[in-house]
Amino acid sequence: MSIPREQYAQIYKDNNHPIEYKKVPVPKPGPDEVLINIKYTGVCHTDLHAWKGDWPLRTKQNLIGGHEGAGVVVAVGELVEEIKVGDHAGIKWLNGSCGHCEFCMAGDEPLCEKALLSGYTVDGTFQQYAIGKAVHVARIPKEAPLDAIAPILCAGITVYKALKESNVRAGQTVAIVGAGGGLGSLAIQYAKAMGFRVIAIDTGSEKQEMCLKTLGAEEFVDFAKGDIVANVKSVTGGLGAHAVILLAVSEKPFQQAAEYCRSRGTIVCVGLPPKARVSAEVFSTVIRMITIKGSYVGNRLDTQEAIDFFARGLIKAPFKVGKLSELTKVFQLLEEGKVAGRYVLDTSVSSINHILG
Ligand code: NAD
Ligand code: ZN
Repeated sequence: MSIPREQYAQIYKDNNHPIEYKKVPVPKPGPDEVLINIKYTGVCHTDLHAWKGDWPLRTKQNLIGGHEGAGVVVAVGELVEEIKVGDHAGIKWLNGSCGHCEFCMAGDEPLCEKALLSGYTVDGTFQQYAIGKAVHVARIPKEAPLDAIAPILCAGITVYKALKESNVRAGQTVAIVGAGGGLGSLAIQYAKAMGFRVIAIDTGSEKQEMCLKTLGAEEFVDFAKGDIVANVKSVTGGLGAHAVILLAVSEKPFQQAAEYCRSRGTIVCVGLPPKARVSAEVFSTVIRMITIKGSYVGNRLDTQEAIDFFARGLIKAPFKVGKLSELTKVFQLLEEGKVAGRYVLDTSVSSINHILG
């Protein structure tokens, strides 16, 4: 496979500065790494946080963002045996981890203190050729379309893990907050595939229609209309949802969820609004035995399980396709809450299909 010397990439020189779309050298994989020709990359709200620098965690300078990249392996380091040139593979948020700490040993590698984060502490997938540690890249079956599977590599893994962490059982009800976004649209599909009943919470008619008609949520609660606590209770027989998965990028739902979570229920925090706090009244949290927890991406087994749900045809969330050159426009739309589902960027430069105009 011929590998060019140069490629196109989107580079953040500094937080909130214009992003530069330009030619850069193609990186060379180290002994334990692979080089993937990224065909499609999803755009996660995390990428917007990284560009804005609004989290209490520093990014690499001159960063190439992105962490939902699906493509074809074009080179492998000399120590790599399990993955070959020509295999389909994906770069996810967790690019690498130490492998030796107590978290790595327990299969909790996202908690590794030396974890490398794609598109944050190391260059990610907003480029045509990206590097991942061989033990962490996701294996993608050849039959799976690389555009549709790209969002699974962060959004899919994350929501699948959060749903497992919620301890909800088949037949019970889960409220998905931020249901019309990238994580939310996939969360509805995974929840349904796992046998759960879904209440989607978001706003606007486009997201409402997508959640109810395309994705199959049973109820839609518009957070901008009326009393959300009363509305969730009224569609759950007055008791509330068995679990609440918080995916929104605003603080308010992190302070409301305990009021519409059912007694013995679980609130799983996943969205990361900057400087936000999660809160609940102590008395009712105790006497109603509410669990509040965080959930952070997933490990390598969660990754393969999430891909397996997709490969079996159970996950069909809508996505829109743009060009890698259009990243800034997609960031604007995400900031304005105007992306229903996910944007996936085609990294090829030959196509003239600039759908964003
Ligand atoms: P997105 O912008 O696609 O979706 C967010 C959705 O939340 C939008 O549809 C928006 O309308 C909705 N929303 C806003 N305010 C709301 C409210 N008050 N109530 C209900 N819905 C509301 O973003 P995304 O890519 O899905 O990412 C969501 C968040 O998850 C981001 O903060 C991202 O950084 C975080 N994230 C966390 C993890 C993790 O491992 N914990 C992994 C990936 C992303
Ligand atoms: Zn992400």
